[in-house]
Amino acid sequence: MKRKATSSNLRKMQLLPGVRGLILADLNDWIVQNMSIEQVIQPKNSIQPRSVEGRFRTIKTGILVFAYATFFLLPWLRWTREVGPDQAILFDIPGRRYYMFDLVMHAQDIFWLTALLFLSAVLLFFVTTLFGRVFCGYFCFQTLWTDAFRWIEKFIQGDRVARLRLEKQPWNGEKIRKVVLTHAAWLFLAMWTGLSFALYWGDAFELTGKFLTGQAPAAMYATVLILMTTTYLAAGWAKEYVCLHMCPYSRFQSVMFDQDTMIVSYDGNRGEGTAGRIKPIKEMRDQAARQQAGHGDCVDCGLCVQVCPTGVDIRNGLQIGCIHCALCIDACDNIMDKQGWKRGLVRYTSEHGLQGEKTKILKLRTVGYGLATLLATVYLVWSIASSKLLEVTAVQIRSPLFVTLSDGRIQNSYEVKINNKTMEPAKYQLAIEGLPGAELEMGQITDLSLKPDSSMRVLTKIRYTMQPGDTQKNREFQFRLTPLEGKVTEPVIIPSHFMTP
Ligand code: SF4
Ligand code: SF4
Repeated sequence: MKRKATSSNLRKMQLLPGVRGLILADLNDWIVQNMSIEQVIQPKNSIQPRSVEGRFRTIKTGILVFAYATFFLLPWLRWTREVGPDQAILFDIPGRRYYMFDLVMHAQDIFWLTALLFLSAVLLFFVTTLFGRVFCGYFCFQTLWTDAFRWIEKFIQGDRVARLRLEKQPWNGEKIRKVVLTHAAWLFLAMWTGLSFALYWGDAFELTGKFLTGQAPAAMYATVLILMTTTYLAAGWAKEYVCLHMCPYSRFQSVMFDQDTMIVSYDGNRGEGTAGRIKPIKEMRDQAARQQAGHGDCVDCGLCVQVCPTGVDIRNGLQIGCIHCALCIDACDNIMDKQGWKRGLVRYTSEHGLQGEKTKILKLRTVGYGLATLLATVYLVWSIASSKLLEVTAVQIRSPLFVTLSDGRIQNSYEVKINNKTMEPAKYQLAIEGLPGAELEMGQITDLSLKPDSSMRVLTKIRYTMQPGDTQKNREFQFRLTPLEGKVTEPVIIPSHFMTP
């Protein structure tokens, strides 16, 4: 039998009791037992948050502007290089080169990406353990794009009350014009998002020209279309429902929180008193009178709920829908300022802090995540800073391992790859050491000259005369590549093996 989703049931579903919270299994069990599929998937009401001004809104806007400026402008930034494209950030897949300002990454440097992903993961755990879901509230793409889409919506349709009125009013000329204009602006921003992403993979000016004149590669149109559609749907239609129902991060956040994690919290003792919250009517406008009557400082204005982008009432405690954007803090601070009362009824604090106890920042878990973040950063920086400008490999060709020539000498073949990662031309000399009397042959190649940022493969053959009674089958020797010209001056030694019957 399908049970009705009463408001108390819904509240039970949304609430995480205490900061330790429901574990995912409990939450899933509750949903399975108490809600129909329609209730889980379909939003009950659309959320129309009210705009608010304050410290956290300013920080959020600052991060949004910085993130947008970075993402949309970086492909257009030029960068002078002696060799290579003049685009500051460019991921050149056909050329297998990834340019980031003065750093040129080659395909073999892909492990830096692994290190970067690990660093991002431990940094996320570290920050979440300390400050809750600040990533969700301030840095997540979904939050940033939804925020921008909301701003467009507000610009065209007005703030919360005007939008609610528009939503309810029948379709007339005004409603059609505003809704069409909003969706057109959303589609334009979504398209520009997809296009900007594609511009990181080629010359931005050339690609844009080709894109606009219908001459761009099909893969570019497909990429832009996919990103445009997903951005439009996620930021324009799904909005906060991505955070509430789709994002896995909100589900496992509770395992990273503890009673010392700084989270957006409502101070229930101060807000409710012993007699509960009350509106500031008549004599209840005065704080002293309210306290005498047992009422707290919450004037039940509901602004903290109205500004919430996910429709959460923070006065009910920590909830799975709260993305810690702290806009409810701004809303409540504004009310407290208006009343002339102390700010902080809704504030960043820990569960221990709310109980009047000390918040312990330095704990085994935070220190562990902090150390892992530090080590991953140091490793990545060291690895990039110490990457070699001249890379040489020598791979023995194993079929066959050796050949006996007509004059009795034994021949082994090797593929030597020389990679000049400097931005200067270079010249090298290849020799072998440790095989007395052996001959090195490089076929037609007599000149090992390389252009800046280029590589070459050389098929080499080594011929060795075995001495009578010599039964050793595997000999160690080494290639020596000596730079004759170019930026790198140190020779490179490559250990190898020579096989005999
Ligand atoms: S409850 Fe407050 S911090 Fe949480 S999402 Fe809503 S406005 Fe942001
Ligand atoms: S904004 Fe502050 S005063 Fe107003 S309802 Fe929320 S907690 Fe109470």
